[in-house]
Order: sequence, then C-alpha cells, then structure tokens
Amino acid sequence: MWFFRCPEITFGEDALGQLALIRGKRAFIVTDPVIEGLGFVTAVQTQLCEAGLESQVFAEVEPDPSLQTVRRGAAQMLAYEPDWIIGLGGGSSMDAAKAMWIHYERPDIDPEAINPFEELGLRQKARLICIPTTAGTGSEAGYGIVLTDTENARKLTLGSPEATPDIAIVDPYFTAQLPRQVTADTGIDVLTHAIEAYIGSWANDFTDGLCLQAMRLVFKYLPRAVAYGHEDPEAREKMANAATMAGMVLGNSSVALAHALGHSAGALFHQVPHGRITAVFLPYTLQFVANGEAGRFGDMAAALLLPSRDETEAADSVVTAVFQLLDQLGLPGSLKAAGIPEDQFAEMLPLMVEHVEVDANLLMSPRIPHTAEIEKLLQYAYNGRAVDF
Ligand SMILES: [Zn+2]
Repeated sequence: MWFFRCPEITFGEDALGQLALIRGKRAFIVTDPVIEGLGFVTAVQTQLCEAGLESQVFAEVEPDPSLQTVRRGAAQMLAYEPDWIIGLGGGSSMDAAKAMWIHYERPDIDPEAINPFEELGLRQKARLICIPTTAGTGSEAGYGIVLTDTENARKLTLGSPEATPDIAIVDPYFTAQLPRQVTADTGIDVLTHAIEAYIGSWANDFTDGLCLQAMRLVFKYLPRAVAYGHEDPEAREKMANAATMAGMVLGNSSVALAHALGHSAGALFHQVPHGRITAVFLPYTLQFVANGEAGRFGDMAAALLLPSRDETEAADSVVTAVFQLLDQLGLPGSLKAAGIPEDQFAEMLPLMVEHVEVDANLLMSPRIPHTAEIEKLLQYAYNGRAVDF
C-alpha cells in the first residue's frame, strides 16, 4: 500500500489572489527579514485583508532554521491563536512554518521528535498555506522539514505526512526579481529532487511522470531563468512550476544519496547553500548507482533526448548533461571548486561520513554505500574525479 499526497495548488500569474478567497479569522505569517524587506509580506497581507483576516508576522527565520527559532515562533502562535499558518519564503521559512504549526497544534511534541510514524492529529487549530519565493526547495508541496541542531552542527531531516500544506500558492511574481546566483542555486535543486526521486527505491508510477517533466523543464528553462531573470517571465513561471512538481515527488517518492551527502556537508560548510552543495554530489552519486540494468537511466536519457543505446551509454549521457548544466549555470562541479578548503575537508571527513550513515535519505538510494564507499564518494566529489568503483 502506498499513498500520494499533495496540497491544492494554485499556480501561474496572479495565483496570490487565491488568498483573498480563504475563510478564517487570523493568519500567522512565518518568513524572514529579507522577504519582509522586499514587500512580499505586505502583498500577502493585502490579500488577507480583502478576505477579512487579521494577521501577525514572524520574520525571524534564518537560513537553516534552528530548533530554537521554531520554539520561539510556536510560542507566538500559541499566544495569537491563528486559524491559518502561512509559510512565505524559501525552504527555510516554509519548513519552519510547518514545524511551528506542529508545535502549536501539539505543544507536547518537541520539534526534534517530529517523525512520519506518529499520528499528530493536526488541523484542530489551523491549516497551512505555503507560498514559495524561490523556485527550488519544493517545500510548498511536501511534508519534509529540515531543521538544524545548532548545538551539535547537524541537520535534522524530519517530517510528517500530515504536515503536507493544505494549499500551495505558486506565483511567479515572487521569483521574478530573484538574483541570478539564487536562481541557479535553488533551480538546480529541482533537478536533484527530480532525478533522485526517479531513480530512488521509492519511485512509483504516480511520481515518475512528474519527475521526468520536472527534469525536462529544468534543462530547458533554468539556463534561461538564470541568464535573463525577470525579462523572461515564461522561464520564471516554468521553473516555479517545475519546483513545485519536484516538490510533489519529495514526500511521495524520496530524494536519496546526493541529499544524504549534501545534508552532511551542508551542515558543516554553511557557506555553500543547500541546492549548490547537493547538486555537486548529484553526478558522482549517479555514477555510483548506475548499474546498467534497471532501465531508469535509459528512460531519463530518452526523456531528455540524450544518446541512450543502452543503460551504460544512457547513464554516461545523463551524467555528462548534469555536469554541462552545472557549468552553464556557473555552479561548481566539485567540492573543491565550491570553495571548501582542503584542510577543512580532510578534518571534517570522518564526521561527514558519520552523519551520512544516519541520514534517512541514504536508505532510498538504489545502491547503498557502506562506510568506506561513503568516504570515497566524498573524496571523489571533493576532487572532481570520476567514480570508478
Ligand atoms: Zn534539495
């Protein structure tokens, strides 16, 4: 038995107008100071006002939100008693909104203990709307929650199917002015989600089509979105849709090895954003899992119109296409090129291996590396050498 869960999705130009149609009393907006400064909170509040809702804003979410921030926001929610929670921003704000909402509904559960197996009984107090302002994480369509335990420098991969947002509002208005580097860093994450969910062991008929279409959209529109920004609204809209489609597969299939490696490296090297550091690992993990049998690389290569006479050629084609895309977008193809100093990498290597081994996403890889292989994979990705084991 398997499930497919996703929010109601409003997308395209003027999708934000959906907010003017909701019914309720009080909304609690979870966001960060940059988003507030851009006037996006005001845009949201204008629509809420039209719907007759009061609102309160928590604009203190930091990149890689911490457990402490989540506890602080939830305490404000408990005092304000909203019936709608709105996560507005990138993955950090949306994930923080989910965790705060859970803590607001269930103060007896510590955010650190949120897991997919416990019945939470959410929606007694409020429902959740997510509004992405980047085209990348797909957090608006999934139930995963990534928080950082700042005391122990590790990422916590949490989540609950019940935390799937009720509504996702995917409006390209929010990404129109996104800076070039952020467009590349977040957009490449869409590709990593789609490819990992397609070849991962949780892939299924309901997610496969979404994955393939999201991949096609990224290869076609991400270079345009990066190069032309707001002058190419079509590319912006297609990337926003691709991000949400790839987000829909996150909880219904799953990301895998590249994310396990990306989480562990990202928690130690904060200067490299999630999308960029995870994408560095993507081609190396593809080389590692390609086994010439499953047929998944052939399907992907065919969808992307790449040479694919057999699985081996198809895998080579996909890996080459990923490296070329990274290069075209000005993204690093190795950890060294990502600016991680060699001595720091060597020093952190044992800790990274340890964290990869306990990352839940490791288990969804079609080939699960053992300890020595994890270490080798990290070293190959550091030096930019082809994986050959
Ligand atoms: Zn990701």
